[in-house]
Amino acid sequence: MHKTVYLDNNATTSVAPEVRDVMTPFFNDFYGNPSSMHFFGGRIAKCVERSREEVARFLNAEPDEIIFTSCATESDNAAIFSAAEKYGKSLKIITTQVEHPAVLQCVEYLKEKGYNTVKIGVDGFGRLDIDSLEQELKTPGPKFVSVMWANNETGTVFPIAQIAALCKEHGAIFHTDAVQMAGKGVIDVKKVPVDMLAISGHKFHAPKGVGALYVRKGVEFNSFMKGGHQERGRRAGTENVPYIVGMAKACELCRVNMEEENDTIGALRDALQDGILKSCPDVRVNGDVENRLCNTLNVSFEYIEGEAIAYRLSDLGIAISTGSACASGSLEPSHVIRAMGVPFTAVHGSVRFSFSRYNTSADVDYVLKELPGVIANLRELSPFGPGKEFL
Ligand SMILES: *Cc1c(COP(=O)(O)O)cnc(C)c1O
Repeated sequence: MHKTVYLDNNATTSVAPEVRDVMTPFFNDFYGNPSSMHFFGGRIAKCVERSREEVARFLNAEPDEIIFTSCATESDNAAIFSAAEKYGKSLKIITTQVEHPAVLQCVEYLKEKGYNTVKIGVDGFGRLDIDSLEQELKTPGPKFVSVMWANNETGTVFPIAQIAALCKEHGAIFHTDAVQMAGKGVIDVKKVPVDMLAISGHKFHAPKGVGALYVRKGVEFNSFMKGGHQERGRRAGTENVPYIVGMAKACELCRVNMEEENDTIGALRDALQDGILKSCPDVRVNGDVENRLCNTLNVSFEYIEGEAIAYRLSDLGIAISTGSACASGSLEPSHVIRAMGVPFTAVHGSVRFSFSRYNTSADVDYVLKELPGVIANLRELSPFGPGKEFL
């Protein structure tokens, strides 16, 4: 059996051993309900509150500004629908063309319900059109803005401090999907005036199925989850204690080690990028390389399909992903790559490599050993390409 290399960490990460270890007692011994009045509940409630403090510290927030959720999709939905309910159809909702479906589908839904919605575009490097965002902010009336901190497909980092300041200046509520930023860059809500911010545990080495929503003190928030009084009445439902404790540990690990780890991760990513550019012709790097997550590399191999590359690499034990979604038998290119206006010869051939703290230089070496052959072979089989009649 050949080596296996996991380079799909923007899709999900492995659970850190330290995280798994702190969770185990909450399955075996500390299984009480934090809302119970007896000793079995009380001490669990304390663990949840300590976890809240740790997650808050990770974002430089206050503990009572953190609401635990089941995932970032829930956090994004909760933020958007809270504002939509408060203001009704007088609310203008502004987002971008390159958001995650967790945001885009909420905005699409509200558009169908009659809300005024706007999607700001990006340029060829995936950079947001800040001027048109500012224009949209100038209309009177209540406004809600949702702009992701970093893009999951290209790793492009948006100037969130600038965008948050603009929103504040124009009196708009500002939410950011910070899922891909958590653990890969500093998030400081004291410095960056966001009103709401979503993170997801499984993107930074906690398990799947736990997330958080930051809501700045004073910002009105109404949850669509009705039920018990958990989370100070802002998110009903018995707390997922083991996962909350695990996510707090994952936050602590990132907070303590992030700077050093990210240097190493960035060096691996750069080595892969350099190696690909040297060994494969007709390649383009997608996204804003000046403002990019340290762990992400999105490249287009012209004239071939990203899916075919990913399948071939999967057979060789290398896990990567494409931005495309296979819809009704036709291969739909990614909405992010399309929004960037990537040329048609390259739009289908985009793939994403995303690293974590557990990758090594041996992983990069293995990919660089196998990838050029895969690309050359797929290009031989492709009906497209320089000098081929279909082009
Ligand atoms: C993964 C991801 C989400 C969804 O997170 P879940 O916890 O899986 O719901 C939302 N936004 C971005 C940018 C993501 O990468």
